[in-house]
Amino acid sequence: MEMKYDRILIRYGEMTTKGKNRNIFVRRLKNNIARKLQAFPRIKIEYMRDRMYILLNGEPHEPIIDKLKTVFGIHSFSLAMKCENDLAAIKETALAAVRQLPYKGKTFKVSARRVDKQFPYRSDELNHEVGAHILRQTEDLTVNVRQPDIDVRIEVRQDGTYVTCHDIFGAGGLPVGTSGKAMLMLSGGIDSPVAGYLAMKRGLEIEAVHFFSPPFTSERAKQKVIDLVRKLTAYGGKIKLHIVPFTEVQQAIYQGVPNEYSLISTRRAMLKITDALRRRQRGLAIVTGESLGQVASQTLESMYVINEVTNTPVLRPLISMDKMEIIEIAKQIDTHDISILPYEDCCTIFTPRAPKTKPKKEKVLQHESQLDLAPLLEKAINETETIVIDEEAGQADEFTALF
Ligand code: ATP
Ligand code: MG
Repeated sequence: MEMKYDRILIRYGEMTTKGKNRNIFVRRLKNNIARKLQAFPRIKIEYMRDRMYILLNGEPHEPIIDKLKTVFGIHSFSLAMKCENDLAAIKETALAAVRQLPYKGKTFKVSARRVDKQFPYRSDELNHEVGAHILRQTEDLTVNVRQPDIDVRIEVRQDGTYVTCHDIFGAGGLPVGTSGKAMLMLSGGIDSPVAGYLAMKRGLEIEAVHFFSPPFTSERAKQKVIDLVRKLTAYGGKIKLHIVPFTEVQQAIYQGVPNEYSLISTRRAMLKITDALRRRQRGLAIVTGESLGQVASQTLESMYVINEVTNTPVLRPLISMDKMEIIEIAKQIDTHDISILPYEDCCTIFTPRAPKTKPKKEKVLQHESQLDLAPLLEKAINETETIVIDEEAGQADEFTALF
């Protein structure tokens, strides 16, 4: 029978340095991978402290490899074959591993590593034996020990020998869920989905919060945000989206606060509501797509006055990035084309022509004290609708949860 790659070897990212938390990390990674590969029921996942194996059991490896590329916490992975710690078996397996690649016209070398010191051949002996065997049994393949196209890696471990030929880069980062939960303030713009992606990359689980102002913003604008969240589920699995009806709050601010201060007060109201939702959902931080100096509300003076409404950590993964760098990531994670659709955002409609770039805190507080915003904020929170968006599910399977 023709021998085939029967497993995928997964190497962990940074988590290996996390000492006693490592078990939690590894288990979470395993669960995240299992979720991601639900469509392949025959696979089996074996995991240990320093690596993980996905046993294919006949499932196709290409679509599985594609899915693994979006799982945070994986440093790299490789198709692999396992055999007994026996020289003849190792030679045949290594040959079969090479033969499954487009090897003609290429160069190769063998890099053996003997973890099991009981094994009677040293690594250099193995390199020699296996290399000679591959050379004899193939055509149009030559040795190059300095810069080979194919590096046949052989690892003789206690439980067996593993052969891999090619490493694929993983998404890096930490497994989603290992760093706790945060609320992502998600507009329909380019920046906030990227901020959500980067937050998840550091292991945060996110729930999205979106403010919309019907009838000033349309159903299509809402759908756009749902579509953005769906893109993010490729990295985060199931994500909750809280949709906050914001019209009355915005109108009250618009009517009661001088025009150049209304933007700041609007942001403060958004942050207050998000913080209340965070408390209810037991999150520990808020993530935004703010980038220093990008627009009027993102000067340090504005951030200072906006941030004043809460002590909760506000994480701003894009703070020091240029717009071009942000756009680059947005394209890479496939949110860019959705973000640039022209549907109106709740803020653009009420945005004053000349917002203050250096708002004074005292002024803001004074204007807001003329308003009775608290009941309106309360109402917005109570009327918030929550949708659960699942990567694997189609739209029809989404449901509205109470929360
Ligand atoms: P983005 O591209 O994310 O819309 P932006 O460059 O347009 O950002 P702002 O409009 O100043 O910047 O918004 C700053 C941040 O405030 C956004 O990144 C987002 O986190 C949050 N935000 C803005 N509008 C909304 C909204 N309608 N719902 C939820 N969060 C919002
Ligand atoms: Mg925006």
